[in-house]
Amino acid sequence: MKVLLVYAHPEPRSLNGALRDEALKELEALGHEVQMSDLYAMGWKSEVDRADFPPLAPDAQLMVAQASSEAFAAGALTEDVKAEQEKMLWADVLILQFPLWWFSMPAILKGWVDRVYAYGFGYGVGEHSDQRWGDRYGEGVLAGKRAMLIVTAGGWEEHYSDRGINGPIDDLLFPINHGILYYPGYDVLPPFVAYKVDRLDQRGFDEVASRLRKRLQTLATTSPIPYRRQNGGDYLIPSMRLRPELAPPGATGFALHLDSQEPIAKARHKCVEPAE
Ligand SMILES: Cc1cc2nc3c(=O)[nH]c(=O)nc-3n(C[C@H](O)[C@H](O)[C@H](O)COP(=O)(O)OP(=O)(O)OC[C@H]3O[C@@H](n4cnc5c(N)ncnc54)[C@H](O)[C@@H]3O)c2cc1C
Repeated sequence: MKVLLVYAHPEPRSLNGALRDEALKELEALGHEVQMSDLYAMGWKSEVDRADFPPLAPDAQLMVAQASSEAFAAGALTEDVKAEQEKMLWADVLILQFPLWWFSMPAILKGWVDRVYAYGFGYGVGEHSDQRWGDRYGEGVLAGKRAMLIVTAGGWEEHYSDRGINGPIDDLLFPINHGILYYPGYDVLPPFVAYKVDRLDQRGFDEVASRLRKRLQTLATTSPIPYRRQNGGDYLIPSMRLRPELAPPGATGFALHLDSQEPIAKARHKCVEPAE
């Protein structure tokens, strides 16, 4: 397979740097072709501004989605953004690797998403009608490809467990896994998370590296997180709310969007909400 590793850590001699090297070695040993975007080493520009949209007239008001749509359609996005989009189209698997900073990704990686996911590429894809709400959440430009996070965290695994004070890790990563990766179509594999890493000794490192290598060995076969598909009949259009019969009354939270409730009888027929 072809793998794109997008890596966000400022220090090559860090734990993340060492895990990245392990990952690259393992992926190559497995026969995968690999490209890496090392965002700090590339000096990646993380903020979106008018320089991202060369066709925009100097006196025109910047409306980001519109400028993004026009520049993407004209093939006139900046060369750094176009190069990342080409790598994403090339790769069968996208891996995002980062340390958990403030319960999310470092700003430089968020800025990679903000700039590379142009309108027409990462969002704003497909037709909106009374049967569909665009091509997103399982459909889109990147459908058929796989994606996975490699994350290191200072906190303990228990702190990120179901009743842990930090909140469950699957909830914290939901905006990335579901909102950034599933949205443009990726099948999202369960994340690889290394916890309690700040005082890791050699033995701890060897354990983490071994666990990472094993995960990479099953990149092609690991079952994706079973997110519900937007246009699969589970959501009412246009409210995009989960159909009432698919979860108990009062149920809330991100887990609603997991299609792991089988064999709950599911009415797969298209249902259109009456207009108000
Ligand atoms: C701004 C900021 C925000 C943060 N927010 C959060 C948060 O919200 N939640 C949370 O849980 N944590 C948080 N943290 C902690 C952060 O997630 C960890 O510090 C980070 O994941 C560690 O990864 P690193 O690559 O920077 O590790 P490093 O600091 O480089 O290394 C960590 C440990 O691994 C050892 N090590 C490194 N390389 C090797 C090697 N090759 N062999 C053996 N041992 C090695 C080091 O000696 C060190 O003990 C935050 C940290 C920062 C700076």
